Amino acid sequence: MSPQLPLIYAELLVNIRQLSVIVAFQTSCPKDASVSLTADGKQFSLRQNGKISVLHLPGQVASIDIQQPLPGVKEFSWRLPLAGPQRVLHAGDAPTIEGPWSARTLTENSVFSCRNCGTVIVGKGAIKEWRDLPSENWAEMMDFWHCHKPADHKHDQVDTTIKSGSTGGLDLERSRGYGASTKFVAQDQVGFVDITSFLLTPKHLSGIKSPRYSEPSTDGHKPRLTELHCAGCNHAIGYNDEQAEGYKIWKWAMAESVGHFEQAETPCSMGRFFSSIISTLLAAVISSQGCSRIVVMPNISTVPSGVQELADHAAPSTTSPYPTTTCSMPSSSPHAIEPFSLSLWILSPSIRYSSNQTASPELSQNLQAEKTPKEGGAAMKVFWKAISLDEAGSMIEKPGVEEVALPMDAVIELQLNLRGSALLLPESGRKFQDWEVGLLDKYEGS
Ligand SMILES: [Zn+2]
Ligand SMILES: [Zn+2]
Repeated sequence: MSPQLPLIYAELLVNIRQLSVIVAFQTSCPKDASVSLTADGKQFSLRQNGKISVLHLPGQVASIDIQQPLPGVKEFSWRLPLAGPQRVLHAGDAPTIEGPWSARTLTENSVFSCRNCGTVIVGKGAIKEWRDLPSENWAEMMDFWHCHKPADHKHDQVDTTIKSGSTGGLDLERSRGYGASTKFVAQDQVGFVDITSFLLTPKHLSGIKSPRYSEPSTDGHKPRLTELHCAGCNHAIGYNDEQAEGYKIWKWAMAESVGHFEQAETPCSMGRFFSSIISTLLAAVISSQGCSRIVVMPNISTVPSGVQELADHAAPSTTSPYPTTTCSMPSSSPHAIEPFSLSLWILSPSIRYSSNQTASPELSQNLQAEKTPKEGGAAMKVFWKAISLDEAGSMIEKPGVEEVALPMDAVIELQLNLRGSALLLPESGRKFQDWEVGLLDKYEGS
């Protein structure tokens, strides 16, 4: 799409059964400009300077005569009524929150490679069975990720351990030792799946550098999260979860080889996700906590210069049951910047939109699997700002603000995605008060 073409952005407003369309010209509307809807109410076209731009709308509107743009004005917007009396299906109707690569979509033929360099991590047949962690466990796992324990949470009173063939008493004790509430333990050749990661035993994995422990654990009670790196490119791909006795592999660090399983080294197509993994995580937090404000905190540092500061921040008080984080190896991350947090305000967790623009080119790698389909894509509209770790630390003490912890690399990638997605929006929609506005694509199933 030529950058010279006017931007056309449409968003479905389900609650008021309308669809908003915005046209923004580079300078101002030329004299010959005209707009129209197709007879079926599914497309909006703009004719100007002898060119026609067509946008597939994210919903079907009543075919009506619409007001023509006035020459000399820069931006126009329309509110169009939806066609028909029937309810419009949108992403928010889904009763369950399902992101990319849930267990039901995976088989023993599933092959996962490093997203950055293609080194095979989970080879064909390495995992015989994939199982979703039960959804009530997601919230627990998220609590586990917190570096600050919310004062009103009393998880320690409910200890449960899930491990097939285990002796309950022993596991309960071990679980208590960590102060965590629910414990999953990795099982050989079983892939446990949650929203953001796979929990696997190292035995049948390949392409991972063996984790190096640079210092002995000073506190025998606390598990440490030691980063795991791809043997091919040294990118951080997960961490060694000592409590779960396995490797946690981040979904966003992986690409799934699709088809041609016999030549997994040179797959003919790859599935990869970032935005839709993070939007699924945020949607789960929003629905379980009933909040709209989320602070994304870096936990494991994948930024070399930030390791010490981050360790300082994450250093638990003597009574904290939460694990310390360590990064024992230098990362190949190109982003040598100070760690920071993202403050998010999500009032519209589920929208449908279409835009004739593309997001920032540096995001093209991620967007391959997350393109806006012709009928419009599902997304989460996010107001965001980058804040210091100090600001973030005091913000998460406030009621109604939830904390989500991600590795620093993922925080940076989230910021890039949000910033890049603003190019899909008209200029007037890229800011709200002192917030930046961005879109995170949502997963719509396979
Ligand atoms: Zn913290
Ligand atoms: Zn790699």
